[in-house]
Amino acid sequence: MHIDLHAHSNASDGTDSPAELVANAVVAGLDVVALTDHDTVAGHAEAAAAVRALPAGRSLTLVPGAELSCRVEGISMHLLAYLFDPAEPAFAAERELVRTDRFRRGRAVVERCRELGAPISWEQVERIAGAGSVGRPHIASALVEAGVVATVDEAFTRDWLANGGRADVPKHETDPVTAVRLVRAAGGVPVFAHPGAVKRGRTVPDQVIADLALAGLGGLEVDHTDHDEPTRARLRGLAGELGLFCTGSSDYHGARKSVRLGAFTTAPQVFEELLAQATGAEPIR
Ligand code: AMP
Ligand code: ZN
Ligand code: FE
Ligand code: FE
Repeated sequence: MHIDLHAHSNASDGTDSPAELVANAVVAGLDVVALTDHDTVAGHAEAAAAVRALPAGRSLTLVPGAELSCRVEGISMHLLAYLFDPAEPAFAAERELVRTDRFRRGRAVVERCRELGAPISWEQVERIAGAGSVGRPHIASALVEAGVVATVDEAFTRDWLANGGRADVPKHETDPVTAVRLVRAAGGVPVFAHPGAVKRGRTVPDQVIADLALAGLGGLEVDHTDHDEPTRARLRGLAGELGLFCTGSSDYHGARKSVRLGAFTTAPQVFEELLAQATGAEPIR
């Protein structure tokens, strides 16, 4: 079983359409893929239709999800949420709040880039983002187009878009204890995404993870491209102490990042546990 529980489509800052993501997951030999766009479920319907239209003998299970933008003690962090009821009003309203603020913040980041001499425009970023939940990776692509940096990764230095960088502007991000409760109240399962990704900036202290565990966190995403082996070992130990399960996933973004679908995967028994905890939605087969 090849189970990848974290992938983005162009409903946020990935480059595959949801249908292309499903097709690519089949090509990559995945049995299960989760669609976890930033703060949105806009890609779910298209991905579900693509799964249902797969020819006989090509089976793929789609786990509808999202990746929520959170902030605690001034540190940005991401919370994966799986199999929640997308219509549950309190959680839907919070996603809407974050998405809406992404537009204000996106304009402000573009303005900062222009002040710093980068010849990009909001219209360009809108074209790149299309219908997607707009974020810094779209602005990074605009900086690449303008020849300011050579790659999307190079745009994520403190010179430009990195957390705390010259052109970084904060957006509304949910308190993670609140987010964990919203996900559970919508029948979903919350998992802390890449909790040890130091290359993105400061990471949250273990005490915060303990608080989240008490609030209902289900697991930690341990096997991730941004974690080295000592970090994974430490997170596995922490998960064990706190009674959390451990996942692995690619955090695929299509052409916007180099990591491939299925680069990291989740054990079948962990996936079974996740399914057992979920009451808000069914996986699509
Ligand atoms: P935003 O959601 O607009 O705040 O942008 C955050 C996204 O930017 C993350 O989900 C990553 O995909 C990407 N990102 C953040 N830090 C880095 C980094 N250091 N290198 C490459 N991509 C990054
Ligand atoms: Zn992303
Ligand atoms: Fe993330
Ligand atoms: Fe992600």
